[in-house]
Amino acid sequence: MPPIRKRATAIAQAHWKDLGLWMPIFLGVPVLGFGLGYWLDSLWPVVVSWVAVSPIPVFGLIRHYRRFAKMPCEDCGRILERGVPADGAPIVFHCPDCNIEWDTGFIQGGGD
Ligand SMILES: [Zn+2]
Repeated sequence: MPPIRKRATAIAQAHWKDLGLWMPIFLGVPVLGFGLGYWLDSLWPVVVSWVAVSPIPVFGLIRHYRRFAKMPCEDCGRILERGVPADGAPIVFHCPDCNIEWDTGFIQGGGD
């Protein structure tokens, strides 16, 4: 019997929530730094703001990678491990207990 394909919602919601929180900080702080640098006629606020936000995409990528490496089945809670999909393949998790294939709606190596 082929698995039932279902849309995984929790993982996508967590992803967009992270993006919604960090993206304004990542973009906003350098803008403030630039404004402050212009106002003070100094390059330092610009440099400091860039250094301050530079770890965000690094941590974001690590978090993203870890999040999409495993997910709990949304029906039974079993921790599902992802196989190794080819680039361009949809990221899905198969729960053998429920015979459900959870579709995260994300594409491997899609560079989102
Ligand atoms: Zn399950």
